[in-house]
Formats: sequence, C-alpha cells, structure tokens
Amino acid sequence: MTENLQSCCLANWKMEMELDPAKDDLPLMANTRHMLVKHYVLDLDVDFKSQVIEGTIVLFFEPGSRCKKGGSAGEGACLSQSDETCKIRASEPCHSPVTNVSARSSKTGYNDFAVCAKGEKDTSDKNGNHSNGEQASGISSSKNCCDIENHGSEDFLLVLDCCDLSVLKVEEVDVAAVPGIEKFTRSAKLTDAEELRNLRNQIVHELVTLPADRWREQLYYYTRCSQAPGCGELLFSTGTWSLMIRKAEVQAPRDFPHAIRIWYKTKPEGRSVTWTTDQSSRPCVYTMGSPINNRALFPCQEPPVAMSTWQTTVRTASCFVVLMSGENSAEPAQLQEEREIKVQGGQVTCPRPCSWCLLSWYYYVTMPMPASTFTIAIGCWTEVKQESHTADVRTNNEFSSLFSRADLRLIEGSCGHVAYPCRFQNPAASSQLVIPHRVFAPWCLKDRCAEILLELIPQCLSAAHATLGTHPFSRLDVLIVPSNFSSLGMASPHIIFLSQSVLTGGSHLCGTRLCHEIAHAWFGLAIGARDWTEEWISEGFATYLEDVFWAVAQQLPHDEAREQQELKALLRWRRLRDEVQNSEEELQVLRPNKENTGEVSESGTCIIKHGLNAEKIFMQVHYLKGYFLLQSLAKRIGEATYFEFLRKFVQKFHGQLILSQDFLYMLLEDIPEQKGYGLSVENIIRAWLDTSGIPKPLLEECQTWDQCRLVRQVNDEVTKWIQVNQRARKRSKRKRRQDEVAFQKLLPDQLVLLLESLLEEKTLCLRTLQCLEKTYHLDEQDSEVRHRWCELVVKHKYTTRYADIEKFLKEDQAMGVYLYGELMVNEDAKQQELAYKCFAATQKQMDVSSAKVVAEMLF
Ligand SMILES: [Zn+2]
Repeated sequence: MTENLQSCCLANWKMEMELDPAKDDLPLMANTRHMLVKHYVLDLDVDFKSQVIEGTIVLFFEPGSRCKKGGSAGEGACLSQSDETCKIRASEPCHSPVTNVSARSSKTGYNDFAVCAKGEKDTSDKNGNHSNGEQASGISSSKNCCDIENHGSEDFLLVLDCCDLSVLKVEEVDVAAVPGIEKFTRSAKLTDAEELRNLRNQIVHELVTLPADRWREQLYYYTRCSQAPGCGELLFSTGTWSLMIRKAEVQAPRDFPHAIRIWYKTKPEGRSVTWTTDQSSRPCVYTMGSPINNRALFPCQEPPVAMSTWQTTVRTASCFVVLMSGENSAEPAQLQEEREIKVQGGQVTCPRPCSWCLLSWYYYVTMPMPASTFTIAIGCWTEVKQESHTADVRTNNEFSSLFSRADLRLIEGSCGHVAYPCRFQNPAASSQLVIPHRVFAPWCLKDRCAEILLELIPQCLSAAHATLGTHPFSRLDVLIVPSNFSSLGMASPHIIFLSQSVLTGGSHLCGTRLCHEIAHAWFGLAIGARDWTEEWISEGFATYLEDVFWAVAQQLPHDEAREQQELKALLRWRRLRDEVQNSEEELQVLRPNKENTGEVSESGTCIIKHGLNAEKIFMQVHYLKGYFLLQSLAKRIGEATYFEFLRKFVQKFHGQLILSQDFLYMLLEDIPEQKGYGLSVENIIRAWLDTSGIPKPLLEECQTWDQCRLVRQVNDEVTKWIQVNQRARKRSKRKRRQDEVAFQKLLPDQLVLLLESLLEEKTLCLRTLQCLEKTYHLDEQDSEVRHRWCELVVKHKYTTRYADIEKFLKEDQAMGVYLYGELMVNEDAKQQELAYKCFAATQKQMDVSSAKVVAEMLF
C-alpha cells in the first residue's frame, strides 16, 4: 500500500548496504489455524507528552480451521480441506493437515521456519511471569512455530503477533456476566466450572456468528462484553515478534478462553506509529505503513487470513482530531468525569485555547479485514471545507456510458465472502457515485488543499465508480500527512494519506495519486493478497487503474486518454528498465514463493520473504511489472471486455483474499476465445510472475510508445534544446541574439520525459539550464518534475539553484532519498556539504527506514 513513484539510482549505495539476512525475512507468528480472531475492541489513551498509547484490547476468537469441530481434550480434531487456502488453489496440491502430534513435529516441508527468530532464547519456562512481559525472550527456532501445541507443559499456546509492546496483564473476560447476554445461550445451566467456561465460549461463538443484519446488536454486545469483568489471569510471555498466552491445563484451542483482554502500552520507538510534528509544528502521531504493520500498536493476528472487524475508542486532549479506519465519521464526545490532565507543560500548542479536557472518539467497522489495514492518525488537523458553492458532483448520466446495464444485474447475485453488511448487495450504495468524504490538513496547508484537492476528490471517486462500480467503503477521509511521511500516498479502509508533495504544481500529480489510492479500495483492501509477497495484486492494479480513473476524471476524449497513457507507459518502462538493471534479481520476481505461494504452516505461521529488506521497500518493480501485465492483457482482450471482466471479478472476490492464479484463471475462463492467442495461465505466470528481469512479451511492446504523439513532441523539444545548448556554447562570449526559439507547451508527464532525456546529455551549459528553468517555470511544477530538475542541477553543478535542492529535500521527503545519493556520488565538496546540511535539518523527523538508507549513503 505504500509507494514511492520516483526515478531511482540505487546502485551506488546499495552495494555497500549491509543487509542482515537474519533480519531480511519477516515472520508472522500467529497460530491462526488454531484460533482465529473475529473482532478487536480497543480502548486507548493517547499521551503526547510521553509518546505512549496505553490501554486494553479485547480479542474475540473462534477456533481455527484445524480445530473447528470438537475433539477430545488435548487435540482439536482437524477438518481436512476445510480451510480456504486449500479450497481456492485449484491448480495446486493440497496439504492435508496432519492430525498426529508426533507426525506434526517432523519436517513437513515448512523448512522456512527454522530461520525465524534465530538467536533468540527459548524462555518457555518463563510463561508464568505476570509482572512484566518485557523479557527479551522469544519464540525459538522451529519448535514453537511448528509444534506449538506440544509446547512444554502440553498446554495450548495462543501466539499473537506483536513487537515493541509492553504487555502488562492478560486475562480471560467473563462475558457471561454481561446483563442480557442470556439470549446468546441456548442452554444456560451453570453447574460446574467447566460448564461455565463452555458457556462463555458458547456466548462468544453466538456473538461472533450473529447474522449480518444484526450488526448493531453485535457491536453493542461486543462493547458490553469488552467491559465485562475479568475471570482469571492468563499466563503469558513476550518475544521479539510475538506474545504467547496460555491457560494452565487447557490443551485444546476449543477450551481456551475465546474472549481475552490484554493490558498493554506502546513504546515511543515502536515502528508502527510515528510521533512527530505536522507542518504547522503541532504534535501528531500516525501509523506509517511500516513492514511490521500494526504489531507495535496492538497485539494481533497479522496473517491476512485473520480477517476481523474492530471497534476503537481513543481518548486524548481536546485539541486533537482522531482519524481512523472506521465506517462512521466519529464525532468526539466530551468525557463526563474530569480526568487527570496528561498533556502539560507547553508541549502542545493549539490554535484555540485548550480546555485541558479529554475527548473520546469512537470508530468501528463491520467489514472483516486483515489487522494490517487498520490505520490511525491523531493531530491538530483542520477540516478543509468548500468555501462557497457546493461541490460540483456530476450526474449519473455523464458516466453511464462506461457502465452497462448488464452489470447492474450482478448486484443481485450473492457475495462470496463471509456475511457482513455488504455495499455490493445494497442497490442504494451501488448507485452512489461519490461517497461522503472529508479532507484534513495541517493549518498551514489548508488553502492549498482547498484549491487543489477538494474538487478533485468527487471527480476521482465518480471516475472510479464509473470504471469499477460500487465503492466498497461507505465513506472516506483524506489526510495530508506530515512531511516525514515516506511515500506519496497510502490507502487504508476509510482513510487515505497523501503527502504534501502532491499539492505542488497543478492538479495532475494530485489527481493521479488520488486515483491510485482510491483504486486500492478495490485492489488491496476489498480484495487482498492472500500471500503478502504477491504485492503486485494490489500495486499493479492500482497503478494500472490510476491512469484509467484519471482519464475518466478529466473527461478526456478517447484518443487523448490513449496518448497520455502511452506517454505514461514509456516513463514507467524507462523506470522499470533502470530498476531491473540496478537491483538484485531475486527482488524482481512478482511471485517469489512461486507454486508454494499462499502456503502456511500447520499452525498458520509463515515467513514473508524479504519482508524487512530495506532495499525492497524502495523498489517499484511490483507496481511496474504488475501494471504492464494488466495493460498487456487489456490490449489483447480489448478494453470494453476487459473492464466488464474486472467488474465481474470484483463482484466475485470482494471481501476475500486472492492469489495471482485466481485472477488469471477467472480471466481466461471468462474469455475462452483468447486462449487461441497463446494466452494460458502457465505462460503468463512463467513470463510475468515467476521470473526476474523484463518480461519477454514486454520487450516486444516497448517499441510502440516511442511513436506516440506526445512522446514525439517531447523528442522534438529535446532536439531544440540540444541545438540551443550547442549554440550557447559556441557563442558563449558573444552577445546572444534575441530571437529565442519557440518551445511548445508541455504536459507535466512530458516535462518529466524532457528533463530525463536532457539528463542523458553530457554537458548542458548554465545558460541552457537558466533558459530551461525560465521557459517551464520549473520551480512551480509538481514534485515529479522538480525532482528531475534537481537531478539536472546536481549533475551540472548549477550552484545558484542549490536552494531548489535544499527545498526539495526538506519539503518532498517522500521522494528526496535518491537525491542524497546523487549529491554524494559526484564527490563534490559543495554538494556533499549540502547533503549533510539537509540531512542534519531533517534527520530527527525523517521516517526511520529512509533515515537509515540516507545515513548509509552519507556516512
Ligand atoms: Zn459482498
């Protein structure tokens, strides 16, 4: 979901970078096939002074797929073939879960697990520690990963993903104590302790399986249950990547408490959230989409199969706005009791007098999603509103051409996901072109947002609807995040983060980025990747759809849209070519797990290959190759048929997780006549997904973009500039003639291509650079254009414009990382000084992984 679209020059610093192979892969430790979380209730206090979030989380579970039906104590009988991993992969061998304990601990093809948490000590004997879970203990080797039920005392171990959290206490929740809960129990006879325990689990079972139309009642009882008293502390220990919980003498997941409460605190250095200040120097905190997702924010089950709903209450000082992945646009409630003031000492400066009272914000979702998609942002942000006239929302008619009547019939079909109040089944929701949305920004960027962003949102939202149909989410907040955000945008349920870098220049960069993030509502959120390494499923689609949405949003005639898309294809092709030349082959593969993709161990744990690789974070190969694959398929199949198929695909798979082959099989089945063109799932997978380098079919296509009108126009301008440069050099001492060359006006993407082409010229004299800058008003262009301009300034040591670089490195941190590399490469004292100076000024605020990469380049 995170992306940096920028040209890159990785080779120089990358080689020196020491990548610790033990830290390269990311383990997902939760044993989701034993216990599966269905709902989280978070209740948190956010303290900006200590930079700590503290509170409780209550988790509601169902026994996992391996243990669904009751077996005797000690072992949940396994339902073979019951889990979706097997069901969905038609082309792959199914691994039937092994029921025999001794067989399970032997090697069953999950050798990967031997690498997890290497070097950590097994502290299973410390499970009884209640006072503080902070021992640097950990799950060790393959023992816990693959043999979790057989751990030590034979007690069942619930493993949650978490890191950098202080866990204070874990307890079972007495849901049976909630008044009125009796209606969830069919036979409420409480005779002994075991029956009471079964009763509690039965209540949770009834609650989590309530029909979708009773979601309000369900949320109400989730709240009540989360506030119910505890009924016994549970044993726990924490490791680098996990929190392990057990209950003495409980050996089967089905007997383990299905509602547990965890008291915990985040740590200021935790990598899930960034504590910083916004562009108006006011404190804020936000989830930054790091590789560890939300594990340093709350203990959770990270594997995407753990799709759950959540509700969250956040209390913080009244000057803050709390934004979150929630389907309600929360209004803050003043707390009745006067609580102790936690923000003091002038740490917080507010635009209006702060009454020191706390406000409480409550959000919820009813659509189950992976915990990794949860997002929160808290700051003194201002809501940006339309000043006078109401937004110019287009009517249904304007967009109806793209959306055939036949598609509407699909809505009547039922959905493939678990039951929840789905918008695809609601005709009113399906015909909603623009969903309710709000824009938040730091005070100082309010006007720029009003000018550029505000009117783009309804345009882009209705363009998305025209292309794909029903918006999967009911509302949207767009937030301009602090300048240290490491990418141009990030999409989460109900909330999009945008970098301030999209607010410069005209509307082009802002519009395309917004379209990209909006596309993630369908690809990345409503339809997720079952295997995280198949990131192209969300990024390739969003990159491809960004062009399509943007053309519709601008209401471009067909030919113009095609020209702009061809220009974009050429720019992306150049980028892909550079990246393939300058990165490790292994990182260029879209489906790194190949035919084993989507596989997890018997307990549900898995390893995300290269999940922590610092280099991979900055790579775009998944975006680019994914985009080219989808574009090439569109070309073969024809756009009209292709989009009709995409809508059917969304209809079938929304609310679910997919693997690459789910998409490809459905596509080729849907369009059987295409098989004659040599399209087959196997061929596509071989050529595009499972190999490094440039896909062969793409090599044949790339010639055509050079011939596109917009590209030829740029080439003509480049020729003029080269001539201007030659003349300027010859006449360097003579007086220049006044008859200036007439240059064409260029689109932002054309300017990018022009500057990239000029970057390939060995020498450009200062007068040419001056003229270039004046002709195109480069300092007023968007950040993509200015980035290329800065590269030119560096390359030709155009010292009078070093201020442009300085400004870029401070204000466009999402894109500036590579510029540091370029400043260092020339070994020019002035340039290096500039790099050190800018790094010193921004280092403290900079995103951790960006700072690490820049530091590698500088020192
Ligand atoms: Zn649905």
